[in-house]
Amino acid sequence: MKTIIEPFKIKSVEPIRFTTLEERIKILHDAHYNPFLIHAEDVLIDLLTDSGTSAMSAKQWAGMMEGDESYAGARSFFRFEKAVQDLTGMKNIIPTHQGRAAEKILFTIIGGAGKYIPNNTHFDTTRANVEFSGAVAVDFQTEEGKRPDVIAPFKGNMNVAALEKFIQETGAENIPVCFITVTNNSGGGQPVSMQNIRETKSVLNKYGIPLFIDACRFAENAFFIKKREKGYDNKTPKEIAQEMFSYADGVTMSAKKDAIVNMGGFLALNNDSLATQARNLLIVTEGFPTYGGLAGRDLEAIAQGLEEVLDEHYLTYRLRSVEYLGNKLTEIGIPILQPPGGHAIYIDAKSFLPHIAPHEYPGQSVVCELYKIGGIRSVEIGSVMFGKYDEKGNIVSPPMELVRLAIPRRVYTQSHIDYVIECSIELHSNRKSLTGYAITYEAPQLRHFTAQFKPLA
Ligand SMILES: *Cc1c(COP(=O)(O)O)cnc(C)c1O
Repeated sequence: MKTIIEPFKIKSVEPIRFTTLEERIKILHDAHYNPFLIHAEDVLIDLLTDSGTSAMSAKQWAGMMEGDESYAGARSFFRFEKAVQDLTGMKNIIPTHQGRAAEKILFTIIGGAGKYIPNNTHFDTTRANVEFSGAVAVDFQTEEGKRPDVIAPFKGNMNVAALEKFIQETGAENIPVCFITVTNNSGGGQPVSMQNIRETKSVLNKYGIPLFIDACRFAENAFFIKKREKGYDNKTPKEIAQEMFSYADGVTMSAKKDAIVNMGGFLALNNDSLATQARNLLIVTEGFPTYGGLAGRDLEAIAQGLEEVLDEHYLTYRLRSVEYLGNKLTEIGIPILQPPGGHAIYIDAKSFLPHIAPHEYPGQSVVCELYKIGGIRSVEIGSVMFGKYDEKGNIVSPPMELVRLAIPRRVYTQSHIDYVIECSIELHSNRKSLTGYAITYEAPQLRHFTAQFKPLA
């Protein structure tokens, strides 16, 4: 088989800035060893997130000029509406400035005290919006989905049996909606099978609970189904995505992921009365229903991006480039969450640095070392991000200490990824000399964004 190449050529380039090792040591020190505090200009390869960091195509940029900026009834809205309707089959398409705005509007209407929202795994903004409304967010990951070393095709699946038991115990009247997140972002970018979506839907039907899809990475999920699930290899990614959405009653989406744009999102609903309430809230918080917090040009770019993301050459390249990085790290001997997901590789820092205890933040140590070696920015997803204190002030760590390397869409070429791999070889050979970190400052909430650290001797 020939090399899977980037299915595009480069028309416009953005220089990246090289720094010396001495400079990076100083930058890291000045940023208190927190990559969120490093200026993006001082980063060579930025793998902090795949959200809003994608490269738009020539056609999307052309759409930016085509954008109709009329306040009401803009042509660009109708193009956007048609693209989302064609994909999701939903009747009511409501643009929002990003995914969490769609979540905020939805849960303001259907959430509230005494309500429970099940999900295969809530993304953090989804959980925050559920909880902000007063409702309780409950996750139903499968057992294999919780085990980083197990290789299985659909580790993002919903645990349907546990979901049904929960519905019986909680009462369907207290569960306004159930979500499935595709791919399962917090679960490592792992896909959900069509069979699992179907089974979830059939259980929900028994109890009259609507199914919503958090569709941020719907195209990556559709392509995993094509590759891995029986009966789908002859279907197009679009047909598969349409089938996924056919089981849903509503959709929330951050267009910053699989619509390949830098900003945007939407809420799509079949239920007309829910849509009317959502539009009324939208007018208060986002804008008129035909732009909802976005410019006409953004709506054009989203409509175009939703089409491009379903191209098989794009998806082949997308999933392969993530898998390529994952396989190479495994060859080097760096343990990762298996198998590689759709948008990111997660280094298992706990098994990689067994000499650093969770309360000394092994993930932060990997993050700092990767920046020092090669100007690569990644993010800790472990005790820094999710650690809580008990009554005695001891840190209670989450089950895993991960470092995420998220791959922006269409931004880096294979040689950039090869460079990351070369730096990872150095990371591996330095592993025994790496030290833990201590937190010297932290905010009361979401501390990982602004925390300050110092390396332990
Ligand atoms: C990014 C993301 C969101 C929130 O979207 P924003 O555009 O960042 O507000 C919700 N769910 C999932 C699964 C995501 O990845």
